[in-house]
Amino acid sequence: MFDTRAEIMEALEMPMEEFRNTFLIKAGELYRDSGRGLMAVAMLGYSNICRSQCLYCGMRAGNSSIPRYRFGPPEALKLTQAGRDLGFGRLFLISGEDMGYGFENLLALVSGAKDQGYRQISLACGEFTLEQYRQLREAGADEYVMKFEMSDAEDFNRLNPSTDFSRRMAAIEAVKKSGMKLASGNIVDYPGHTLDKIADDIELMRKLEISWAPVVPYMPAPNTPLALEGGRGSLELILREIAILRLMMPQVNITAGQPGEDPKNGFGDRQGNLNAIGAGANVLFADLLPVSKADAFFVVENRNLPGLQQMEALSKLSGLQLSMG
Ligand code: SF4
Repeated sequence: MFDTRAEIMEALEMPMEEFRNTFLIKAGELYRDSGRGLMAVAMLGYSNICRSQCLYCGMRAGNSSIPRYRFGPPEALKLTQAGRDLGFGRLFLISGEDMGYGFENLLALVSGAKDQGYRQISLACGEFTLEQYRQLREAGADEYVMKFEMSDAEDFNRLNPSTDFSRRMAAIEAVKKSGMKLASGNIVDYPGHTLDKIADDIELMRKLEISWAPVVPYMPAPNTPLALEGGRGSLELILREIAILRLMMPQVNITAGQPGEDPKNGFGDRQGNLNAIGAGANVLFADLLPVSKADAFFVVENRNLPGLQQMEALSKLSGLQLSMG
């Protein structure tokens, strides 16, 4: 299904009710029938320090309104151990582009978490060399998140002034060459995004043979340049994209921690999560950050991850078994 770009465009453009009846319900059922259940992942933002200036991100180097923190390996591993104690077998380690962290420390963090018994470790900590990605893989990283954010090179270069599109695509290729699985995707409906560009984004995800689509709608973060250009992305469009991706790539993981009508609920909005699950999404995150630091991991305002209790509630409401990995 969705073998051609024209089919993707047709699905993006059709009335929502028709889309729901033709694709969305089918996508949710396809995932339910796979028997894979809801994937629970523990997430740790181990540093919110970033050298980059992405115009849409609250953690950009220019934003002096957030307190910065960095957890070195000993402190970070105490937090990841708490995730293991809760029963999580999958871990997502994420940071800003924190060059001061030290690559050896990053390797120690990854191998330490692997020794704690995590079966699957995903990382998102920026652009490195092929050799460094290989070392991360050897240390125990299974998957690397390198989002292309937007497949339109002009948009990318404007919104990501600390890198450029060709460098990002080279980093993506290096991740693939390293032997780690590649997670990649777009921001949906940022100011200036069009349906044509979304179709290109979806095609790029297929071409890259991604393992996980960490896709979210655009959520404006205060004190960022892009927040001056437009409001939050369409909740309908993210559901369309999730359903298309599920039908196009039945094996792919797709972020189910999606926002809903009330922006204050962030990625933990129960109805937003349920709607995403109904469209075929399957991955939920619980935050390992202490409450005192959770708000400082400020990629968007009101990040609010679903958490273990909500995952259990979503499992009951959706009828999908919760898989701790
Ligand atoms: S998106 Fe990532 S690299 Fe860009 S400013 Fe935010 S934390 Fe830094």
